[in-house]
Amino acid sequence: MDDKRQGLTFAPAAGSGVNTKSNDFMSNRTLTMIKPDAMKKGYAGAILDMIIKGGFRIVALKQIQLSAEKAAEFYAVHKERPFYGELVEFMSSGPIIAAILEKENAVADFRALIGATDPAKAEKGTIRKLYASSVGENAVHGSDSDANAKIEADFFFSSLERF
Ligand code: ADP
Repeated sequence: MDDKRQGLTFAPAAGSGVNTKSNDFMSNRTLTMIKPDAMKKGYAGAILDMIIKGGFRIVALKQIQLSAEKAAEFYAVHKERPFYGELVEFMSSGPIIAAILEKENAVADFRALIGATDPAKAEKGTIRKLYASSVGENAVHGSDSDANAKIEADFFFSSLERF
């Protein structure tokens, strides 16, 4: 066992319903995804650079392709919306990068960095203004509340994947 892990009790895997890191989430973490459109266009590096220069620390990060079932689960809150099917298909259409980001006031500050859902309405200099092409294919996700940030982080990452 390496030094970093000494002293830690074994943590349950993501999805087990138990998370030992839940208490340190508070208002300082958010969950982002770099969506398939931005990945395909080669914007991942530039977006991660903006995130780091924006003062966010990367707590966890992985590249993953969601199945349609997992994308449907992640966006279940939008089940009744007319764009749900399209959203699930898009989000499972290619690899994404998921990451937990840390900064004081993380949820609100990250929403400000990414800009409005519709890139046409996003402020100049925001990630969506620079890299998104439409309201559906809008380059990045950012949690909309502390409670959802925790749920979404637990969706992707076990305790052992957070640093
Ligand atoms: P946000 O991602 O800014 O929090 P929402 O929670 O409203 O936005 O929507 C979740 C995601 O669903 C959006 O990021 C976008 O990918 C997709 N979406 C939202 N509205 C539409 C729409 N009118 N048509 C197609 N896709 C949409």
